[in-house]
Amino acid sequence: MNNLRFDNTFIRELPADLETGPRQRQVRCALFSHVNPTPVSAPRLVAHSSEVAALLGISAESINTAAFAQVFAGNEPVEGMQPFAANYGGHQFGHWAGQLGDGRAISLGETINATGERWELQLKGAGPTPYSRQADGRAVLRSSIREFLCSEAMHHLGVPTTRALSLVASGETVMRDMLYDGNPRAEPGAVVCRVAPSFIRFGNFELPASRGDLPLLEQLLDFTIHRDFPALTNSGHKDEALYAAWFTEVCQRSAEMVAHWMRVGFVHGVMNTDNMSILGLTIDYGPYGWIDNYDPDWTPNTTDAQGRRYAFGRQAEIAYWNLAQLARALSPLFDDHDALHAGLERFIDTYRRSEHRNIAAKLGLAECRDTDVTLMTDLQHLLHTTDVDMTLFFRGLADVDPASHSLTPLLDAFYDEQKRHDATPAFNDWLTRYAARLHHDSLDHDEHRTRMQAANPRYVLRNYLAQQAIDRAEQGDDSGIHELLDVLRHPYDDQPGREAYAQRRPDWARNRAGCSMLSCSS
Ligand code: AMP
Ligand code: MG
Repeated sequence: MNNLRFDNTFIRELPADLETGPRQRQVRCALFSHVNPTPVSAPRLVAHSSEVAALLGISAESINTAAFAQVFAGNEPVEGMQPFAANYGGHQFGHWAGQLGDGRAISLGETINATGERWELQLKGAGPTPYSRQADGRAVLRSSIREFLCSEAMHHLGVPTTRALSLVASGETVMRDMLYDGNPRAEPGAVVCRVAPSFIRFGNFELPASRGDLPLLEQLLDFTIHRDFPALTNSGHKDEALYAAWFTEVCQRSAEMVAHWMRVGFVHGVMNTDNMSILGLTIDYGPYGWIDNYDPDWTPNTTDAQGRRYAFGRQAEIAYWNLAQLARALSPLFDDHDALHAGLERFIDTYRRSEHRNIAAKLGLAECRDTDVTLMTDLQHLLHTTDVDMTLFFRGLADVDPASHSLTPLLDAFYDEQKRHDATPAFNDWLTRYAARLHHDSLDHDEHRTRMQAANPRYVLRNYLAQQAIDRAEQGDDSGIHELLDVLRHPYDDQPGREAYAQRRPDWARNRAGCSMLSCSS
């Protein structure tokens, strides 16, 4: 780790809180606070991502040293690290929540790797900061396992995401009331080192805007464009036109990100504006979940069970709403608000195009025609009403000969035998339409299958699989985490011998906490 080279632009170029240390407070006129991680008693490396280590230029030999666990638990900074917590606000569940900030995340610094890429290292669960708001700044092992595994799984699925370098058990316990039912218990704690080119969120802009601090807002915007969107600064745009081009780019990236979520069946679960990355990366893995039986109304987040604001099928609409909040925050910097409206239009266009691309890829078609949208919508309706597993169905569909009217390769995907029986005629009708459509498509059979297998994963981080790895880890056996990480490295490949990781959710997991319902308590 001593070869890590740091270039800490965020804290060098932007205004700091004058007070240092973790005393909790409202921080004005500043975009971050200097604060050190609080050391933990017995750090132990539980898992790491060799791909992320390679990206950073951290050698394989240094990973299993005691020093590695010390550094990435926050116990021992290496030369060049300058820890800080960022100051941001956000809309939570549709309501302005004021200052939030990194309450348990502490950035260590921005490294520059051998190819000149910038990667910020950020510890989650590293202890209190000025933004901890009465909470402890810590994270439990179960939620840290979920963040570590899911961010790497998303990367391998081709979904834009923050990454994770390491998962370190702290050797300490933290008190959590997991179900918010008045039964707190001591749980093992952990620290994850997340990695991304930038951790700037929509909420970083919303907070200075909400306080009328336009110079600070503008300074952050200029910094973000310059550091994180260099292509835009070379585009010749200036001033307001540059800001407009930037906002449009954020809209486009956010649309592409959500379209990927919809393709693979990922539900973020808590799409508050403080959890929306300016780079269009999936960020803040909390009460997220994966679709088992296809259900657009499903939300994994127990806090969201009533309103279902963050349900699977609403994610595009919510991303748009969040972008509208960002536009509102930026609007004092614009004379011409049409430019912001044009950015939001870009979201709609990009999302529609990405959705069409998903339809073509998931059904193995050369292109998506207007009638194909109906073909897909009708299929989704059938999957929903018949209780069919999304991942198994789309993966299995590549093995179906639609002209044969045989659902045999798809039998595993049905959760309810009676519903399957009753819906068989409807599925056969649908297969007849699909066969007719394939007949008029330009892809040959092999191309069709290849296209489908590249868009429809065999392996996703099903909620119950993550929970099984957590249960084992809490008993002292980390191997479930390593196995899952390895399976999820190649989500689109059939991996003989690993069929157990590609099965539908077992009945016992249907209503078990952690498998189908997750709280924000993490
Ligand atoms: P989240 O819903 O995880 O995005 O968290 C919302 C806000 O609460 C963020 O500002 C977090 O930093 C903060 N937060 C969540 N959990 C903790 C914790 N255990 N200690 C301190 N701050 C926390
Ligand atoms: Mg957050």
